Amino acid sequence: MAEPRSAYRLFIDEHILPVETELLQEDDGADALLRELRARARAAGLWAPHLPPEAGGTGEGFLAYADLNEEIGRVAWAQYVFNCQAPDAGNGEILHLFGTEEQKEHWLRPLVDGNARSFFSMTEPDVSGADPTALQTTATLDGQEWVISGRKWFSSGAEGASFGIVMAVTEPEAEPRRRMSQIIVPADAPGLAIVPVPVLGHRGRGWTTHCEVTYSDVRVPHENLLGQRGAGFLIAQKRLGPGRIHHVMRWLGQMQRAFELMCTRALEREAFGGPLAEKQTVQNWIADSAAEIQACRLLTLDAARKIDTDEDARVEISLLKFYAAGVLSRVIDRAVQVHGALGLTDRSPLSHMYAQARGAHIYDGPDEVHRMVVSRRILDAFATGDGWRFS
Ligand SMILES: Cc1cc2nc3c(=O)[nH]c(=O)nc-3n(C[C@H](O)[C@H](O)[C@H](O)COP(=O)(O)OP(=O)(O)OC[C@H]3O[C@@H](n4cnc5c(N)ncnc54)[C@H](O)[C@@H]3O)c2cc1C
Repeated sequence: MAEPRSAYRLFIDEHILPVETELLQEDDGADALLRELRARARAAGLWAPHLPPEAGGTGEGFLAYADLNEEIGRVAWAQYVFNCQAPDAGNGEILHLFGTEEQKEHWLRPLVDGNARSFFSMTEPDVSGADPTALQTTATLDGQEWVISGRKWFSSGAEGASFGIVMAVTEPEAEPRRRMSQIIVPADAPGLAIVPVPVLGHRGRGWTTHCEVTYSDVRVPHENLLGQRGAGFLIAQKRLGPGRIHHVMRWLGQMQRAFELMCTRALEREAFGGPLAEKQTVQNWIADSAAEIQACRLLTLDAARKIDTDEDARVEISLLKFYAAGVLSRVIDRAVQVHGALGLTDRSPLSHMYAQARGAHIYDGPDEVHRMVVSRRILDAFATGDGWRFS
C-alpha cells in the first residue's frame, strides 16, 4: 500500500527542504546527506512510487503518481531521495515491461533496491536527436556476443552508474523504425568510456551528470538484448511517453514552488509606497501563472488517466510536454523577476530552478517536434474525414 501524498510532503518539509542549500553544493557532504535521506525514505516506505509492487515499487498507476509528484517535484533532489529519479525510473519501467526474468533479477532488482544507477544512451552528437531514426551506433552479433560501436552523448547519470541501456542499429536493412534494438551494457565493459559534459543547471556529479559515452567494440552477451530485435524504437516510445509525463509531473511541483515563492515575496517586499503585491503587473503575473499551472495540472491528470486505462495518449503527451515546458519557464521567470537580484543568487532556490528549466524545452523531444506531432495527428484526422474531437 503506497504512502499518501501528505507523507511525501511531510518528509520533504522536515528532512529535505532544511538541507536544500547543502544538497545544491553537489560535493561529498551532499552525497553523504543524500545517502542518509534515501535510507530514511526507504524505511518510511516512501520508495520507488513509479513502479508497481510486482516490480518492487510502491506505485499505484500514473494518476496516483501524478498526484505524488506535485510534492516530489518541488525540490530537485526529492526524486533521488525517493528512488524515482530519471533516467532510472524510465529504465526500470522498460525492464519491468520488456525484460526477461533473468534481466529483471540482474538489472531491475538492484535499481529498485537503490543499490545501482543506470543511464539511457540514445542521443548522438553526429545526428539529430529529435529524429532518432538516423542514429548511427551499431551492434552486430559475433557468435554469442553483441559488438557495439558508436558515440552517444547526453546519457544522463552515466558517471558512477552500473549499467546503461543503449539504442543501436542491429537491422540496417529494415525500415527506419525497425532498425534499432535496445541492449543492456554494464558500465565497466571493456571499450566503454564515459566523460561528463557540463550542462546549464547541473554542477554535474554522479546522478546529475550528462555524459558522452563512447562504445569501442564493446562486447556483451547476446542475452543482454532487451525485448525483440528491431523493437528499440517501439520500446523507446513506451519509455519516453510515460517518461515525458514523469518530467511534467515534477515540473508541476517546480511551478507550484516558484508560484509560492513569488506570492510570498510579493506580499513581503515593499516598493514605491506599498507591497509589490499591489502592483498591477505583479498581480497579472500571479493570475496568469495560476491559470497556466492549473491548466497543466488538468492536462497531466487527463494524460495520466488515459495511460492508466491504456488509451492512445500520444497527442495528449506531446501537447502537455511543450505546453508545460513553456509554463514552467514563464512561472519561474516571473518569480525570479519579483525577487529582483535575490532571485539570481544561491540564496534563493529560484536561480537553480531557472537554469534547470531551460532543458525542459529540449530533452525528451524539443517543443517544435511535439507541436509537429500534435498538429500532424489532428490534421490527419481531418484529412481522413473523421475530424478531431477533444475528449
Ligand atoms: C538535460 C538533458 C538531459 C538529457 N538526457 C538524455 C538521456 O538521458 N539520454 C539520451 O539519449 N538523451 C538525452 N538528452 C538528449 C535529448 O533527448 C536531445 O537533446 C533531444 O532529443 C534533441 O536532440 P538534439 O539535441 O540532437 O537536437 P537536434 O535534433 O539537433 O535539434 C536541434 C533543434 O532543431 C529544432 N528542430 C528539430 N526538429 C524540428 C522540427 N521537426 N521542426 C522544427 N524544429 C525542429 C529544435 O528547435 C531543436 O531544439 C538530454 C538532453 C538534455 C538537455
